[in-house]
Amino acid sequence: MAGGPGSYVFGAEEKKELMDVIESGNLFRYGTPGVDGFQAKVATFEKEMAERLGHKHVVATSSGTGSLMCCLAALGIGMGDEVIVPGYTFIASIATIAMMNATPILAEVDDSLTIDPTKIEALITPKTKAIMPVHMLGNPCDMDAIMAIAKKHDLYVIEDCCQAVGASYKGKRVGTIGNMGAYSLNVFKTITTGDGGFVGTSDDTLYERAFGFHDQGHKPSRMGVEVGNRSMVGMNMRMNELAGAVALAQGRKLDGILETLRAKKKALKDQLQGIPGLGFRKINDAGECATLLTLLFDTQEMAAKFCEKAGTAPIANSGWHVYNNMEQILEKKMWTDNHPFHNCDAHYAKHMLPQTDDILLRAVNISVGVVDKGLGSGTGININSTDAEIAQVAKNIRAIIESL
Ligand SMILES: *Cc1c(COP(=O)(O)O)cnc(C)c1O
Repeated sequence: MAGGPGSYVFGAEEKKELMDVIESGNLFRYGTPGVDGFQAKVATFEKEMAERLGHKHVVATSSGTGSLMCCLAALGIGMGDEVIVPGYTFIASIATIAMMNATPILAEVDDSLTIDPTKIEALITPKTKAIMPVHMLGNPCDMDAIMAIAKKHDLYVIEDCCQAVGASYKGKRVGTIGNMGAYSLNVFKTITTGDGGFVGTSDDTLYERAFGFHDQGHKPSRMGVEVGNRSMVGMNMRMNELAGAVALAQGRKLDGILETLRAKKKALKDQLQGIPGLGFRKINDAGECATLLTLLFDTQEMAAKFCEKAGTAPIANSGWHVYNNMEQILEKKMWTDNHPFHNCDAHYAKHMLPQTDDILLRAVNISVGVVDKGLGSGTGININSTDAEIAQVAKNIRAIIESL
């Protein structure tokens, strides 16, 4: 089965929450608690997730992509603005910036596979409004360095936490360090509702704007009289009660899932120590999600040979998350074919990020909790793997490397 760890641990809890909603007959997120059996699953999920992560506010949404758009809209990022985003990320990080009519500026990643803070300042121009660090593959970005740059240049920070729900950096959950965090509940993420997401912030004004953008300009929770009270034009990116029910049950499992993944990843990694030519990507904080183990070979040749024998591919060739493989943005396609309203000078060419290219050609993902061929992690273990299965996978990897 492909998917994230949350999808491997569905059980009685999700069923119960879902049945509550079905039996109540109220599938829409709005209602009056206690009236007609309304269950308020979405609102309860928002409240619990805000408390769990340390946000003052959470807005549940229909996707991580929608969540990113809510953040950009809340911060007023649009035409003429530039946002710095890593070249190794899911297309949605880049696409949402473009769809707000702003310009994505692609940055290098370092050997943590997250944005390289030492390469950010050279990309800052008078048009730069924000940095969008992506906590890629569950690994928190180097937030101290990023926040220092943002402060120095007066930039907003939108944390793309779509692959890192629940991760923490220096004791703080990701998404609570910058101005806003965007999270996904898609099936390939840490916890899931199939599709879904949420936005977190502790700023009242940003919360109100994000909420409005996600719900046709309404004030939070549509409290009070809506007509005559709408301050903005918005979209519909609401979560419904069915998704809210699953989100609630999955949210309550989040910390347990992370604890299990960290233990399984440690067991796998411990058994792969001391192999000549093999290292691992840098982990910026032990509070990472541990959804994947990324092997980092000394040379591209060694990674290529390993992948050939293991039936996998280095991240560079694994598909989805590498700018070189995003034909929809390369050579101005994003501005012409896909987004005809926007015309800008930004130009994305293959191999424009040589440091990222080199690292991704040496990096190979092994699944721990996220089993996803599109990430290059079609092989490895999953959250339910036993100690014996983990030992077998480690043995196979070691044998392949030692035979090269
Ligand atoms: C999955 C993902 C998104 C988008 O989330 P969806 O819920 O699929 O819309 C955005 N950014 C990153 C880094 C992601 O991995």
